[in-house]
Amino acid sequence: MIDFRSDTVTKPSSGMLEAMMKAPVGDDVFHEDPTVNELEQFTAKMFGKEAGLFCASGTQTNQVAINVHVRPGGEVITNVDSHVYKYEGGGIARNSGASVRLIEGNRGRLTVGDVSKWINNPEDVHLPLTQLVSLEDTSNRGGGAIYDFEEIKRISKFCKENALPLHLDGARVMNALIENGVDPKEYGAQFDSISICLSKGLGAPVGSVLIGSKDFIYRSRRVRKAFGGGMRQAGIIAAGGLYALKNNVIRLREDHSNARVLEYTLKKLEWVNDIIPVETNIVVAILKDASKRDKVINQLEENNVKIMAFGPGMLRFVTHLDISSSDMDQTIEVLKKIEL
Ligand SMILES: *Cc1c(COP(=O)(O)O)cnc(C)c1O
Repeated sequence: MIDFRSDTVTKPSSGMLEAMMKAPVGDDVFHEDPTVNELEQFTAKMFGKEAGLFCASGTQTNQVAINVHVRPGGEVITNVDSHVYKYEGGGIARNSGASVRLIEGNRGRLTVGDVSKWINNPEDVHLPLTQLVSLEDTSNRGGGAIYDFEEIKRISKFCKENALPLHLDGARVMNALIENGVDPKEYGAQFDSISICLSKGLGAPVGSVLIGSKDFIYRSRRVRKAFGGGMRQAGIIAAGGLYALKNNVIRLREDHSNARVLEYTLKKLEWVNDIIPVETNIVVAILKDASKRDKVINQLEENNVKIMAFGPGMLRFVTHLDISSSDMDQTIEVLKKIEL
């Protein structure tokens, strides 16, 4: 099967597995796992942050960060399609008792105008206190769209002036940085906290890292424990993440070029109406006839190509490190033969 459903379907390579098997481990709740410590420091340093916290998933890093930043009754400004709101099981309300101000935005992104418009007047007792702004780069529902770094800087400046913490759901932040060439340290300086997924395009089997100031991570460690995320000899999985950050970042370019090949191929097919312009590793095709969506998905699957529906009349292909060039050739052939 050639699996384009998500960049989470990758399996650890032999080099990664070897690193995992050889990893020195200890009890991480006692801070005694050298591999977890190394991964946390390595990730923090990469973005010019003081400290890191290894978590079980990107949902956990986001939810821990939100819980540290906001109090019950507070409000988070985020995009209507953001993962923190839409795909984390209602976690903002469930875990932190906070409210959300949802912004329509453009392909999952906010502007400084959105943030300044919706920050509540703290003197007005009717309104929830705005306590956090959360961005997503790249945006998943936005079809892998990248933020304009100048806009991030404007949002960051506004947040600083208003003592409003700024969080980044950077599940695919490496896809953004490899494409826009922004220095990770300069990028990191814009945010109070960043969540980075190791198990997406980077190809590790498990885990995400939350980074921020020493004090922020100190508080996050307590929340992670309360959320059931204090792990023991977690170095075995952290080693996969460390290997991923050291070996699988530059090659994200291949995924992006494969995504552009898919965009080019799909555009020429008569049953495709449009493609959301590809910026990274996500390709979203909009069909001419929305009712044919499942027929396309089934025909592809009969020919060993798996993809996902992405809402009514839309298909999503995600490229990743387990898609080879022969997989690409085969997929293009299959796509050209689809009959509706
Ligand atoms: C995948 C993803 C996450 C985290 O998902 P987990 O499955 O919990 O690791 C967070 N944000 C975005 C934008 C994602 O795509």
